[in-house]
Amino acid sequence: MILAPHMLVGAALATYIHHPALLALSASSVHYLLDVAPHWEYAITSSKRTTAYKIIADIATGLFIIFFVLQRFDSPEQALILWGAFFGIVPDGLSAIYFFSRGKYLRRQMQFHVFWHTLIVPKETDPPRWLGIMTEVIVVAIALFLLLR
Ligand SMILES: [Zn+2]
Repeated sequence: MILAPHMLVGAALATYIHHPALLALSASSVHYLLDVAPHWEYAITSSKRTTAYKIIADIATGLFIIFFVLQRFDSPEQALILWGAFFGIVPDGLSAIYFFSRGKYLRRQMQFHVFWHTLIVPKETDPPRWLGIMTEVIVVAIALFLLLR
């Protein structure tokens, strides 16, 4: 799943879980569960520069939405929401370290990540694009509902 939905879900969890360590653990764990759903992702095997732009745009989109939502909360909760959003994408950050180290670091985490990722959608296959986008739209909608309720 792309990064923005993971960030929003981590942010939404922060409105329920106020213990920072528990929130970090929950946001990261839910990341793997969300990756089980058939979803669309942009290619990260093309040029490094193009990939970097996509990732920056993805994170910026998540932050942009979160900053609008943040205005509804006071500062201790704002910090938690950003904390939750950050840990929502930590698993992908760890996988990025795996890629950039060419498999030298965090191999187990990568295997764990791939395990969840391929639970429904087999490796090297993509779900129909409409379905992949639909699941992400639903995840974003639920996260926003929970943040704005
Ligand atoms: Zn992931």
